[in-house]
Amino acid sequence: MNYLIVLTKFIIWRSYLPKYVWQVTSFLRLIYKNNYKNPLNILKIRVFLKKYSNFLVNFKYFFEIFLVFLCLIKLNISLIMSILKQKTIQKQIEFSGIGLHTGKEVSLKIKPAVPNTGIIFRRIDKEKYFDVIPNIFNVSDANFCTTISNDQGVKVSTIEHLMAAFYIAGIDNVIVELNSQEVPIMDGSAKDYIEKISAVGLQSTNVPIKIIKIDKKVEISDGQKHMSIDKSNASLDINFEIKFDNPLIGTQANKINVYEDDLTEICSSRTFCLYEDIENLKKSGLAQGGSLKNAVVVKGNKVLNESGLRNNKEFVNHKILDCIGDIFLTGCKVVGSINCSQGGHKLTNQLLRKVFKDKTNYSIFEIEEKNIPHTFVNKSHLKSIA
Ligand SMILES: [Zn+2]
Repeated sequence: MNYLIVLTKFIIWRSYLPKYVWQVTSFLRLIYKNNYKNPLNILKIRVFLKKYSNFLVNFKYFFEIFLVFLCLIKLNISLIMSILKQKTIQKQIEFSGIGLHTGKEVSLKIKPAVPNTGIIFRRIDKEKYFDVIPNIFNVSDANFCTTISNDQGVKVSTIEHLMAAFYIAGIDNVIVELNSQEVPIMDGSAKDYIEKISAVGLQSTNVPIKIIKIDKKVEISDGQKHMSIDKSNASLDINFEIKFDNPLIGTQANKINVYEDDLTEICSSRTFCLYEDIENLKKSGLAQGGSLKNAVVVKGNKVLNESGLRNNKEFVNHKILDCIGDIFLTGCKVVGSINCSQGGHKLTNQLLRKVFKDKTNYSIFEIEEKNIPHTFVNKSHLKSIA
C-alpha cells in the first residue's frame, strides 16, 4: 500500500474532526436545555444522528487504516533488517560443466559459510587446498574473463557470472570448491546458478552486511572506452552502452537499478562473440570450451544459435551481468551510480582500483537495527541489497 495515500486519507479525516466535535457539543447542549420536544430540535437531532453514524463509520475506517499503517511500518522495518543481515545458502549445491576458455571438465560445490567469511574460492585439485579470494586487488587477468590469483600463483578464472549470481541472490558468505582452474560456463549466463540458489534458499544471520557508499565521482578512460562511478541515494545504478561494427549488435544501451529492477533478463543473458573472432581466440588458447551451447555467436546480421536471442538487449545485458559480478570483487554491496561505454572486465577492475586508492572516494558502513536511518524505512528498493 502506498503510504502517501494512507497519510492523505488520514489528513482528510482529521480536517473533519473539528466539525464533529462542534456537532457533539451542540447535541449535548440540546439535551441539556431539555428542549428536544421541540419538533425543530428533533429534526436537528435526526440530522445529527445521521452525521454521527457517518462519524462512527469514518472512525472505524480510520482505526483500521491506522492499524494497517502500524503493521506495515513494523513489517517494513523487519523486512529491511532481514535484508541488511549477512546470508549464506541453506545447503550445499553442486554444478558440473566445462570451462569456457580451458575447455576442461569441472565440478563445483557451493558450501554454506559462517558470517564474515565472504566468498572464498577453494581449489581442491592440488596436493593441498588453496584458497583464492575474489578481491579487486587479486585480479591477475581481466582481458576476456576475470581471473583471480593468490600469493602462491594458484588461479581461478571466469568467476564473474557466479559472482554476479551471488550479488543478485543476496549471498554474502559461501565457500566455492572446484577441481579445476575455471568455473563452469554452464549456458553462458548466470541463469543456472540463480535457479539452483533460489531452489535451496538462503540462510539469514544476525550479523549486518557492510555497504560501500561511493562519495565522489571517479572515472577512467582507455581510448574510446569510458567508465565512471558516482554517488547515488540508496541504489546501485548501472548505465551501460556497447558499440560494435557488427550490424546486428550495433549500438546497444541499457540502464538498470540493481536493487529495484527485475533482473531476470540480465541473469539469463549469455556471453557472446563474433564468428570471425573464433579462430583467433582458439589459436591464442582461449574459448577452447566455447560452443553454441554456452555462447551466442553472431555472423553478419545473424545469430547462429538456433533458438536466437533470449531478449532484445541480450548483448548489453550480458555486459551488465559481467559488471555486477566484477563489482562484487569489492566484497560488499555497493551504493553508487555507474556509467560505462564499451567497457569490460579490465576497465571495471581499473576503475575500482582507482576508487579504493583514495579513502575520500568512498565510505563503508554497517546498519544496526537501533540506528536504522528514517530514510531507509519505506524504501522497498532495498529489498535485494543483501
Ligand atoms: Zn560474461
